[in-house]
Amino acid sequence: MSVKNVLVVGGGITGTVAAVALAQKGVKVTLAEISPVWYGVGHGITLQGNALRSFKNIGALDRILENAHGFNDIAMYHASGQLLQRMPVAHTGGEDLYATMGALRSDIQTVLVDMIHELGVDVRLGTSMESFENHPDHVDVTFNNGNTESFDLVIACDGIKSKTRKMLGISHDKKSSGLGIWRVVTKRTPEMDCSAVFHGGPEYKAGYTPISKDLCYAYVLTKPQRPDNGLTDAQEMKRLLEGYHGPFDFIRENISEDDYMNFQEIEWLFVNDEPWHQGRVIVTGDAVHACPPVIAQGGAQCSEDAWVLAEMVTQDGDIDEILTAYQARRMPRLTVVVEGSMQLVDWEIHPDTPGANPGMLMGKSLAQLAAMPV
Ligand SMILES: Cc1cc2nc3c(=O)[nH]c(=O)nc-3n(C[C@H](O)[C@H](O)[C@H](O)COP(=O)(O)OP(=O)(O)OC[C@H]3O[C@@H](n4cnc5c(N)ncnc54)[C@H](O)[C@@H]3O)c2cc1C
Repeated sequence: MSVKNVLVVGGGITGTVAAVALAQKGVKVTLAEISPVWYGVGHGITLQGNALRSFKNIGALDRILENAHGFNDIAMYHASGQLLQRMPVAHTGGEDLYATMGALRSDIQTVLVDMIHELGVDVRLGTSMESFENHPDHVDVTFNNGNTESFDLVIACDGIKSKTRKMLGISHDKKSSGLGIWRVVTKRTPEMDCSAVFHGGPEYKAGYTPISKDLCYAYVLTKPQRPDNGLTDAQEMKRLLEGYHGPFDFIRENISEDDYMNFQEIEWLFVNDEPWHQGRVIVTGDAVHACPPVIAQGGAQCSEDAWVLAEMVTQDGDIDEILTAYQARRMPRLTVVVEGSMQLVDWEIHPDTPGANPGMLMGKSLAQLAAMPV
């Protein structure tokens, strides 16, 4: 085994899956999470089958599915409420798994955090890596409490605002995508049993995904700045959804001030031409590839990153060669997702572009992922 003692920085999807996968292979794992309270964000998330496969690989899928909602179709609507097409989604994780799953992020996080504790990972909350010093056979890490410790490898999964990315001298930084998104966790009807996307309305697009027996999360893609119009969040979201009907009539009528909702600008980043590692420190997950959720693959790719990296660094071999091979192995799938997502964003913003065909590109991207090696 190339590494026996690993520091994982960041406890989002990437960090938690990496910590579980490494600990299951007998690696001594320390996980440093900057947040003093380790909680899952309250929003819903749409995860395609390849994320389910990552969760299955670490034995987490059945536990996650106890609360989540799995399904195999996607419904395309016109904003008027007319159902245009309900069609099957590519099984990106294999035919034996749901094509898609909707879940509360906090439900997924709870399962992964429970597993981390069960596996005896040394979890340090309120902790960050302040600096590191690479040596041929180890890396010395100084934490924010001033202590210095040695590890065989640091896997930094500290998200799109990654400090480690900058510490490694990577020149890429996050950029605005030109889109903003409102999301709300709210009630659903039994008929709203798969993801649905609505085009042709006043905003870029709207949609929802069922995340449990009676809840969905709904979203509307809009301009990247929240207007200063004096409306509360619930009022603003209802205003934006006024042009969407069918199941959205139910969603709009049921949104209340107590629902979990927010607005955020969507940013992106793709480190595709610089190394992700320096010596024994590597950045992965959103820290090197974050994209707008228009194919709903960001979290799925993070889960793959984590699982593949745990597989590779627990093989014998030269660590520098392994980390270089890891980045090369991840690049083709990430290119499909990030480039496809940014093309879709461009078509959302410029819908009259000749040849624009978002439905075709979404389907093609997922079919490509289903056919490509991980
Ligand atoms: C609006 C929106 C909707 C999305 N919807 C979907 C979707 O439906 N499906 C999908 O697959 N993907 C979706 N994504 C993408 C997905 O959320 C991300 O790809 C994924 O959550 C990133 O995981 P991560 O662990 O790499 O980073 P993060 O989730 O950002 O986790 C980083 C962690 O590191 C911690 N941290 C940060 N700095 C430090 C530090 N210095 N030291 C220690 N810890 C640190 C943070 O506190 C955090 O816990 C969406 C993204 C956005 C923005």
